[in-house]
Amino acid sequence: MIRIRGLRKSFGGHRVLDGIDFEVQPSQVVVVIGPSGSGKSTFLRCCNGLEQPEGGRIEICGQTLVDEGRPLAEAGLNALRQEVGMVFQSFNLFPHLSVLHNVTLGPRKLRNLSRAEAETRARALLEKVGLAHKADAMPASLSGGQKQRVAIARALAMEPRVMLFDEPTSALDPELVGEVLQVMKLLASEGMTMLVVTHEMGFAREVADEVVVMDGGGIVEAGPPETIFRNPSQERTRSFLQAVL
Ligand code: ATP
Ligand code: MG
Repeated sequence: MIRIRGLRKSFGGHRVLDGIDFEVQPSQVVVVIGPSGSGKSTFLRCCNGLEQPEGGRIEICGQTLVDEGRPLAEAGLNALRQEVGMVFQSFNLFPHLSVLHNVTLGPRKLRNLSRAEAETRARALLEKVGLAHKADAMPASLSGGQKQRVAIARALAMEPRVMLFDEPTSALDPELVGEVLQVMKLLASEGMTMLVVTHEMGFAREVADEVVVMDGGGIVEAGPPETIFRNPSQERTRSFLQAVL
């Protein structure tokens, strides 16, 4: 589903991703952990074409997004972005649009769905994330956990084949984290392919097929959660886990 070889990215001469090799199989849930500044967000953003790598190759859903640092043409990039949903730490809902309108906008503009079709789909997705009753609410009236669930519904409305999550619960009050993780677990159980950056180690233990540890722009080690949490092979993994667990 995602295949990455030798991915490199720098900002102003500072190497942030240093030769990442990585694969995600269909329906796999991969959790990425690692210290602040290790390159996790940059890595995710490269997978969605939000950052342009300087070298390496990214294939997603059978299409080549980047080849030796050369990007897809804009048209191809836009098509690919529709296959890859992304959810950010900061929700990024459109504040002037109702919840329903937030979820229907993308499919109406980019998929040419009629208003009725888009609304039917949006209401089903709001139901799925437990927010059918908030369809007509404005984002400002929602809690953080509700906003993030709308953001997930909005991403799903484009019918992506892969979902990327960048610390989706980090901006939430602790009591709201569970409701968002619950929705993510539901998606995982339905077979969605997911790449998740998170500090929620319980989620990683329970849901991840594979945990990837990043540090200093590279992958330190990767493996099933039992191995990474109980018996990591790298000292850098041990010291990171000691700091967060
Ligand atoms: P965190 O856990 O704090 O979110 P991260 O692992 O997601 O960290 P990145 O945000 O990918 O890390 O950042 C990796 C490095 O790249 C950091 O040193 C950061 O300062 C730098 N960086 C990221 N984005 C940019 C940018 N647009 N311009 C310059 N430097 C950047
Ligand atoms: Mg980050």
